[in-house]
Amino acid sequence: MKAVRLYGPSDLRLEEVPKPSAPPGGLLVEVKACAICGSDVRNVASGGSGHGFTLPRTIGHEIAGVIAEVGKSVEGFEVGSRVVLSVSLACGRCRYCLTGKQNLCESKKAISYQYDGGFAEYVAVPEALVRYGGVLPIPDGIDFYEASLTEPFSCALNGQELSKVSTGDTVVIIGAGPVGIMHAILARINGASKIILAELTPERLEKAREIGAADIYVDSSKEDLKEKVLKETNGLGADVVIVAAPSGKAQLQAIDLAAKGGRVNLFGGLPKGQSQITIDSNVIHYRELFVHGTSDSTPVHMKKILDLMGAGRIDARKLISAVLPLENYKEGFELARSGKALKVILTPNGNA
Ligand SMILES: [Zn+2]
Ligand SMILES: [Zn+2]
Repeated sequence: MKAVRLYGPSDLRLEEVPKPSAPPGGLLVEVKACAICGSDVRNVASGGSGHGFTLPRTIGHEIAGVIAEVGKSVEGFEVGSRVVLSVSLACGRCRYCLTGKQNLCESKKAISYQYDGGFAEYVAVPEALVRYGGVLPIPDGIDFYEASLTEPFSCALNGQELSKVSTGDTVVIIGAGPVGIMHAILARINGASKIILAELTPERLEKAREIGAADIYVDSSKEDLKEKVLKETNGLGADVVIVAAPSGKAQLQAIDLAAKGGRVNLFGGLPKGQSQITIDSNVIHYRELFVHGTSDSTPVHMKKILDLMGAGRIDARKLISAVLPLENYKEGFELARSGKALKVILTPNGNA
């Protein structure tokens, strides 16, 4: 079968590899759509260094497909079922797993990192992922392309829950890439009364505006975001500020934009070697701010996203800029990297 495999920094190859079979206790899924994540782009650039990759590795983790084989002793799954896969395999026994924070599992492994991923015709689903609840049915009426965006949406939902986005909140989101827009869509669902989306690249802001996920769009290359936020909040600042951009400057600005008692979510990680920032901690102290991060998600978040998609509350199609065959992976990665596209999806079989 065809698979796109990572060999090292900027060394991604389309290869012919043996078709896997369902591992004992696991499944074999025929991939219909696998979306390119920002982390895929970063992992290709770095050759996966620092993330426990074993190379070469078939990458891709935003996977939707059809069950092609059910492994020995697996119950409750049928060949032909449409499913999405979660990324992480959690141990189920550590303190974090036992408190429902499987995304923080002490011995977490992941599809596309230690197990082959979805830029391929088939993906072998390990037993641990099946047991963990990481194989979820796609609701009727939702196609494979939309379904492949379940995972990034679920990470954004985890962030929204941690930031306690709720009715009447003013939410500022810095960064109008796919994840920033997903945050805006979810903030609306969570009852935010005003959503301010800020972005440095006018092209990206324009795309976000077309989707209409926010109330106010700020071109940070021209406008003063702080001035705008203060004006929109009667000088108080925002209840929640989410940084969906890999920028230390944006993280500092986020702390500055929060109202007293506000929540600041450093949602996006910073590039390796550039993750040190210096903050005025007195601002956090006197303003009683809650500053936190977000990492990954759990099957519970994925289930909620699939329910929202199925109910028509999330239209993921608006975020899809391109669907390309696996052979065009270079074009796909270039498009995703350029920032000119929102989500780019690779599909092994043309039409899903
Ligand atoms: Zn992802
Ligand atoms: Zn665990």
